[in-house]
Amino acid sequence: MKIRLEQLTKKFPNRNKKQGEFVIAVNNFNFEIPDGKLIGLLGPSGCGKSTALNLISGLEKPTEGKIFFGDDDVTNLPPENRGVGMVFQNYALYPHLTVQQNIMFPLQNLKGKDKLSKEEMQRRALEAAKLVQIDMLMERKPSELSGGQQQRVAIARALVKMPRVLLLDEPLSNLDARLRLQTREEIRRIQKATKITTIFVTHDQDEAMSISDMIVVMKDGVVHQIGKPQEVYDHPTNLFVATFLGTPSINVFRGRVQDGQLAIGGENVLSVPGVPNRDVICAIRPEGFLLDEKGPFTLGLERMEVMGRDTSVVCTHEDGVSEVIRAIVRTDSVVDEEKETVRFTLIPSKVHLFDPETEEDLPFMA
Ligand code: ATP
Repeated sequence: MKIRLEQLTKKFPNRNKKQGEFVIAVNNFNFEIPDGKLIGLLGPSGCGKSTALNLISGLEKPTEGKIFFGDDDVTNLPPENRGVGMVFQNYALYPHLTVQQNIMFPLQNLKGKDKLSKEEMQRRALEAAKLVQIDMLMERKPSELSGGQQQRVAIARALVKMPRVLLLDEPLSNLDARLRLQTREEIRRIQKATKITTIFVTHDQDEAMSISDMIVVMKDGVVHQIGKPQEVYDHPTNLFVATFLGTPSINVFRGRVQDGQLAIGGENVLSVPGVPNRDVICAIRPEGFLLDEKGPFTLGLERMEVMGRDTSVVCTHEDGVSEVIRAIVRTDSVVDEEKETVRFTLIPSKVHLFDPETEEDLPFMA
């Protein structure tokens, strides 16, 4: 089921009128979510992710704009008639019911021509349980399950009505690190198996990047960029998107372009043809630094942090906006830790220039 948002806006009245009459939680969303894909809605806390999801589910009414599921305008439909399955951070299973009864619960409220026999409900619950691989736990109570298993029950409960759209709001936040990894892969597997259009809300960019077909990066209610995760990572349209994606984060410097050369501090560190003479903000991915004794870019060497296969060379620079600069190199690379400086050559595709005023991308021919 394709989803289309047209001029979708949600304003909440502001209790503190000094900060303006309204909080604009979702500001003029205009985009389409293709059928059968998994979309990550990504952004810092308070950027409007949950509000956007609640508008799509029908739990909130938009101030302006429309929502379409396929060709159907669902803007005024109540949540129960939209055919959405939802999973929240607090998945709140009924403690006194078994796994099977929890999963069957949404089917028991079906009325009229939709009403199902007990056998049919059990069959559907088993089918949903098999999808999330908890069919062997059907007789247990939630207290007898691990956190990950409980979350799978919540997903099965959302799938049992065969929704047109699956909405997941920070579904992994309550799980420990290892379980988060496992469960996110599980969600990806289930989504691919069911081909249900799925929207996944998270503030964790690694999570969104690893499982989404497409990510929507938001801040303060505004969509900043939409695209395939790798495309957005490789071609951020502004400084916010560049700094929000990637671990360790991108390194930011003040620089100047003069005669096609990018200068940081007193050094010409890279050729950037096509950019006029001007001040710039320069952002360099940690993997964009190549150790090179004769390289043009000199950084102050602080320390080395070994992380298995890779090592972080932690550096400083007087024109660094970032407090420390992190360059990622292979652990078997040779760096003389006694020295006070270390030199690098830059990989052009890992360097991004931005206008210091607007923070918009300034393209150059790499
Ligand atoms: P988080 O990751 O912290 O859950 P979020 O990105 O999901 O954040 P929302 O919960 O959608 O953000 O909130 C977006 C903005 O709208 C915030 O500034 C929030 O304070 C405001 N907001 C949300 N609900 C209401 C409400 N009922 N009344 C007033 N303001 C609200």
